[in-house]
Amino acid sequence: TQKVVLITGCSSGIGLALAVRIAKDEKKRFMVYATMRNLSKGEALVEAAGRTLGRTLELKQLDVCDEDSIKACVDSLPERRVDILISNAGMGLIGPIECQSIDEMKTVMDTNFFGLVRLLKEILPDMKRRKRGHVVVISSVMGIQGILFNDVYAASKFAVEGFCESLAVQALRFDLNISLIEPGPVITEFERKVYDEGMKTDLSKADRVTADMFVNIYLKNYNQIFESLGQSAEDVAEHTHKIITMENPPFRHQTNTLYTPMTTLKYADPNGDLPIDTFYKMVFEHDKVFNASLNFLKLLRWRSRKSFTLEKDKSG
Ligand code: NAD
Repeated sequence: TQKVVLITGCSSGIGLALAVRIAKDEKKRFMVYATMRNLSKGEALVEAAGRTLGRTLELKQLDVCDEDSIKACVDSLPERRVDILISNAGMGLIGPIECQSIDEMKTVMDTNFFGLVRLLKEILPDMKRRKRGHVVVISSVMGIQGILFNDVYAASKFAVEGFCESLAVQALRFDLNISLIEPGPVITEFERKVYDEGMKTDLSKADRVTADMFVNIYLKNYNQIFESLGQSAEDVAEHTHKIITMENPPFRHQTNTLYTPMTTLKYADPNGDLPIDTFYKMVFEHDKVFNASLNFLKLLRWRSRKSFTLEKDKSG
């Protein structure tokens, strides 16, 4: 029997790519309900879905900030059954916090964090009852590691990760799986929207040093980071498709190997200074980055030698 997949935020980017990729599964293992806040924005998805539309893919309205719309959507599914929930809808926010209103920040938390909470309040009880289900959350590497001028966005993704890590223990008791997908930079409308909004930031509330850091360092390098490290939405969709077809899906999955050296810094230093120092050097002391990377590689070599020794010890 086909598994029912419900995906949020499918009008663009990763959500759209995910809906299409899963609906086009070679073995037709999935029935995809591709949801979006505003169905009038469904044109791109309809076009990309092609012949899967009405077969393995159907569009539905769902606003993750509106409990009633979530309930109405789930109620409209046969037996209210969702086997795989993919929580993807989200938004970004960049800039100095003194230039952002609390309301703007709340909208980010409400979408990225409470959006997921609302979905699970509606869907998790049924999954528990059926003892069957997989919750997949499109998080970010910023759910593991903060990035300059992404303070509130990173906080929203940390919230998502803490929430899921807590629930994952309970989920084991019901044979449910939870997976966090952690992409690095992905080239979608998201990145462009966030950049455009960032460009419009009223910097009058920021001091000169902060404003300069944001405009002349952060925004200036923004596009370059996406160009050199960026991944496509289709690539993230491919990774996610693999995760939902696995027998024992992992709790965390990073999709971008170019980015893993950065996230590894977090796990390499329990004091937490190594990633912060490295990011500082990358941003402000380009010439020292080389030394920083070299030290990092030495550390990695040291760690792998240590684990090798331990392996040898174990084998006697
Ligand atoms: P995107 O802007 O193309 O997609 C986000 C989608 O969420 C949009 O279709 C938007 O309409 C929808 N959305 C926003 N608020 C909603 C609401 N209240 N209800 C329903 N839908 C809503 O950007 P994307 O890159 O495809 O982002 C998808 C997810 O991937 C987000 O959770 C984002 O945080 C995450 N992500 C993106 C990147 C990146 O660099 N683009 C990197 C890591 C993680």
